[in-house]
Amino acid sequence: MAKIQILDEHIANQIAAGEVVERPSSVVKELVENAIDAGSTKVDVMVEEGGLMSIRVTDNGSGIEPEDCETAFYRHATSKLSSGRDLFQIRSLGFRGEALPSIAAVAKVQLISASSDSGLGYKVSIEGGKLKESEAAPAPKGTDLVIRELFYNTPARLKYMKTIQTELGHISDVMYRQALAHPEIGFSLRHNGNALLQTPGNGDLLQVIAAIYGNNAARAMVPIEYEDPDYTLRGFIGRPDLTRSNRNAISTVVNGRYIRNTGLQQAILRGYHTLLPIGRYPLVVLQLTMHPSLVDVNVHPAKLEVRFSKEGELNTFVETAVKGALSQHVLIPQVVKQQIGKGDSRSVIQEQFSFPSPSQAPVDTANRQEFIHSGNSAPVSGSPSREGSTAGGQGQGMDVPSVSSSMSQVRSPQVREGAAAGYAAGAGAGGSYNQKGWQNEVRTSALPKPEHIERLYESPAEAPQVPQFPELTLIGQHHGTYLIANNDTGLYLIDQHAAHERVNYEYYYEKFGSPADASQELLLPITLEFTPSDSEKLKDRLHWFESAGVILEHFGGQTFRVVSHPYWFPKGEEAAIIEEMADWVLNERSIDLAKIREKSSILCSCKASIKANQKLTQEEAVTLLRRLAACRQPYTCPHGRPIVVSFSTYDLEKLFKRVM
Ligand code: ADP
Ligand code: MG
Repeated sequence: MAKIQILDEHIANQIAAGEVVERPSSVVKELVENAIDAGSTKVDVMVEEGGLMSIRVTDNGSGIEPEDCETAFYRHATSKLSSGRDLFQIRSLGFRGEALPSIAAVAKVQLISASSDSGLGYKVSIEGGKLKESEAAPAPKGTDLVIRELFYNTPARLKYMKTIQTELGHISDVMYRQALAHPEIGFSLRHNGNALLQTPGNGDLLQVIAAIYGNNAARAMVPIEYEDPDYTLRGFIGRPDLTRSNRNAISTVVNGRYIRNTGLQQAILRGYHTLLPIGRYPLVVLQLTMHPSLVDVNVHPAKLEVRFSKEGELNTFVETAVKGALSQHVLIPQVVKQQIGKGDSRSVIQEQFSFPSPSQAPVDTANRQEFIHSGNSAPVSGSPSREGSTAGGQGQGMDVPSVSSSMSQVRSPQVREGAAAGYAAGAGAGGSYNQKGWQNEVRTSALPKPEHIERLYESPAEAPQVPQFPELTLIGQHHGTYLIANNDTGLYLIDQHAAHERVNYEYYYEKFGSPADASQELLLPITLEFTPSDSEKLKDRLHWFESAGVILEHFGGQTFRVVSHPYWFPKGEEAAIIEEMADWVLNERSIDLAKIREKSSILCSCKASIKANQKLTQEEAVTLLRRLAACRQPYTCPHGRPIVVSFSTYDLEKLFKRVM
């Protein structure tokens, strides 16, 4: 007896729904794409309870002929493909004819559509794939689809849904993407009656960027335009100082379709080259146009992936375009700043092994102040003592770690995710490991390579007991990067940038213990802007800022106001710091106090220590060493890179073959 059967249409639709309709945002995506394909100039989306209760999409497009209204819900019913050949040059967003039947299989759907201005249209209602109503109805030209109780008949899927905020976040993302891909269409999004997005639909992409990312972001964009015989590129790319912690704000649109493509993303990032700090990503909106045969969109029914037939050429095209736009519009000093950050030895000025006297030294007062940060927590005079650490257990006269032993002593097996936010500033120290020089030849193997270094511990309080920092006599400074010092037992090289970060980190960690005490009301409040959906999220998370001493207030729409922050935030970096805090507050599910304290401290210490390759006066260098000695963990920077390496007298003697 035959065992293979053809599935009935309803079951087939439910199976397809599993792929096409993953969550409420997938419904919004499919319906909005249909509206775009229908040539609409206005698309309004209204959702309730994150789309789980209802989703309504109304457009002013071509509408559906009365006799097609039922057919539209049949499987593989589409008006967009008529022959197999069309599949290789798709010009519409949809073409599979799967969306409507899939949605109708797992929800209660009502369609009202009219294909003319006669005022007469047609209405169809379907529940869980079963036709309930089909009749003429009055309607303006265009289509109105209402989806109620999504997944009401597939409880397993319903159980899978996240919070209303999460679902709304996905829906907002879908709307942002469509709006960025189609500035010529006016989109609106409302949730439970609240307006979340409204784009003008006048073709001005920059206005769409402003509606989504805020006016400040829009102001920091530079236009990009480029073409070759195969491709045309238009759009806006953000200045490198406007960065985010993830790639979500890199938008690529191909022939009006928002897509995700790793190769393209990497080409864009290569275009920025060294302009971006490590772990930071730009805001980019690129609209690419090419012949439809150069891109295969038939890769996955619902995903954003596509395939390009001339991938290498396309990527080079994009990289060149981004480079060109940046070099045309972006100021050169930022390039220099980045090179220094990368520890480029060529840009480092060779210095003498002596310090200019304070009066001779070129002093930038602002930097100076920050460098010493006139701190009042660490003792500056007297012999080094470790503030706040327990007296016991710190072996008097313990061996000073040498190159070969210090790292293993300090390193603890606990390894966790690197603090990405802080990596940028630390890059200066990292680059110098590659520098050619005697120390490299001598002990390379003992020096941890930057890319292998992980965070070593959670917080200063949890830092393992480490040997007391040695008393040192300063000899000089090398390449504006390393301090050279010695004592009876050997020679020491101290990475001044890493040392500074460590000192600052512990300073701020202490401060963030009770940040509210120092919260200072601002005369001129700082305003920050976020996307509409991030703004919704932030409104519920303002208390997280408060625990870092930052009082942030919703100021209406996408704007927030910093009412006060601790006075000891690094000067001039306050807005950048709070923006970065917002970045992780938005991306964390839950944050506890300890994490806020640690992350905020790293953030502030990075911002305050950013200047690498800085000449120090002798006084400053001595102060830095004293402060370092007073740290609980003076041997590694907050990112785990070493601060000090040493050569014992015996090591030196061996090197010079005085002993064998
Ligand atoms: P596809 O978009 O892949 O063709 P769908 O299931 O999404 O398949 O839609 C089926 C058909 O219904 C479309 O081909 C189109 O003819 C029609 N249709 C759906 N939505 C609209 C709309 N908003 N305006 C006009 N026609 C529509
Ligand atoms: Mg469709």
